[in-house]
Amino acid sequence: MSARVALVTGAGRGIGRAAAIELAKQGHAVAVNYAHSEEAAYKTVRLITDAGGRAFAVKADVSNAEEVKEMFKCVAETLGEVNVLVCSAGITRDSLLMRMKCDDWNSVVNTNLSSLYICAKEAVRPMIKARWGRIIAISSVVALRGSIGQCNYAAAKAGMIGFMKSLAKEVGGKGITANVIAPGFIDTDMTSSLPEELKAKYIETIPCGRVGTPQDVANVVSFLASDAASYIQGQVIAVDGGIAI
Ligand code: NAP
Repeated sequence: MSARVALVTGAGRGIGRAAAIELAKQGHAVAVNYAHSEEAAYKTVRLITDAGGRAFAVKADVSNAEEVKEMFKCVAETLGEVNVLVCSAGITRDSLLMRMKCDDWNSVVNTNLSSLYICAKEAVRPMIKARWGRIIAISSVVALRGSIGQCNYAAAKAGMIGFMKSLAKEVGGKGITANVIAPGFIDTDMTSSLPEELKAKYIETIPCGRVGTPQDVANVVSFLASDAASYIQGQVIAVDGGIAI
């Protein structure tokens, strides 16, 4: 395992950070991608290296193909070719459709969905060469159920599922798996601004009776990245405390 290199997008904060730390614990050298949160990304790196792991921070806007190309080059030069790609970077720009600005649509689709196309395209060639690879996309339960005020986000997250199922069929015979995680309500910056009453109401609908933690998602990332998950292909795994049932 120690020879494997993982690139986690949006790993300065939230789910991405937890995934990066968990992958490092499993022996991966980890590239910690960030776009804006430089200090947070360096903190993720410190948390990994202080625990004896290998990591470095790499800046790139994942919706920008040129920056992503440079990022992959930089990771290959620093740690080696990427064996495990975790696409966790994402944003929301919520509003009812009638008020949704073109910019809110484009930025959400570009950051959540086009970024997956851009990053996976860079990752597959070396993975095919190595005849081993793991591509893990962080979608959302919203892709499966829809959500008021999130037409842009739900469309982007559902698009990730179609993309990954197609990719699984394309590269499945080459030792590469492509799987999706659909988190429910996870306690991160993304959900921290929700009013407390709304949160409490939402928790009532979760069969597990609590919000999820980034670690809940990271545990599944780590499993999907392992050899033990080599026969799990093109799946959407909900980590949502049961919301989707
Ligand atoms: P978060 O705490 O808000 O973190 C978002 C991450 O995405 C940050 O690390 C951010 O990095 C990165 N990011 C945003 N735009 C980027 C860009 N253009 N290029 C590179 N990185 C970018 O969110 P989170 O809750 O951890 O979410 C992680 C993923 O899980 C997202 O895809 C989200 O949609 C999904 N998800 C979250 C929940 C939830 O309840 N929290 C539920 C379902 C799905 P910078 O700060 O450096 O920009």
